[in-house]
Amino acid sequence: MSKNYMTLAISDARLARAQHLLVDLDGTLVRQQEAIAGAVELLAHFDGRYAIVSNNSTHTASGLAQRLRRLGLRVPVERIVLAGEQAVRQLVLECPGARVMMVASPALQRYARTLGCQLVRSDADFVLLALDMRFDHARLALAANELRRGARLVASNADLTHPGTHGRVVPETGALLAALVAASGVQPLRITGKPAPLLFEEGLHRLNARAEDTVVVGDNPLTDAEGAQRLGMACVLVGTAPGAVAPSVAGLFAAPAGSAEAPDALSQYRLSDSTSKVWRSVRTEVS
Ligand SMILES: [Mg+2]
Repeated sequence: MSKNYMTLAISDARLARAQHLLVDLDGTLVRQQEAIAGAVELLAHFDGRYAIVSNNSTHTASGLAQRLRRLGLRVPVERIVLAGEQAVRQLVLECPGARVMMVASPALQRYARTLGCQLVRSDADFVLLALDMRFDHARLALAANELRRGARLVASNADLTHPGTHGRVVPETGALLAALVAASGVQPLRITGKPAPLLFEEGLHRLNARAEDTVVVGDNPLTDAEGAQRLGMACVLVGTAPGAVAPSVAGLFAAPAGSAEAPDALSQYRLSDSTSKVWRSVRTEVS
């Protein structure tokens, strides 16, 4: 079945013309332990011309590439740009030698050490928060008191949840961030992930691509569409969010000849100024 897509054209005009693709991961290409319909085919269509740009902060790019391979998606490590890794890189580049308390996955902490980051449990200059599946009251207390003592807070991303299986949600870094802000009274100095421009800029850099030749495909208006708009890139939304042009990336391909016509709703989606303002205000409320 999946091979049929290889012979199909992209139905969305802007996406069909795009030279490069920046594509979201969770909810767009994968959902928990499976690839979403059309994901393999979308990456095949943009082979050599795409980068994955994700607010994932638990994995490293190499660990994620292995996981994706098990799901049937063969993605070169250098084409994976992740909020967790980029938050670490950003901090190490800007403040080399800083003492950093990480509230993050073991994989991300190992990655930080490979970059020479000095990880500490007290007297930190920074608390770096990413998605930590072992987050608990003790860890919250440790980090909150470091912040109250004077450490500065940086976070990988502010997503409250990401899609799980059977309609469930998986609590994300933003939910942990809300707890940490509530307990410490300290606001984050910086949030690296989408919709901030850094991940998209890094994706464009790795592709040697220009924003005007690149289309973003994602499922989240608040991160994917908002972030694309900030850099002047077109965004095609899929899934169930307002403005989505198809339920999944499979819907971005034209129907085969002889079958029913592809839905004409598959047109390029762009945030209007007024819509964007509404989403910004919603985001302020939830974060
Ligand atoms: Mg997503």
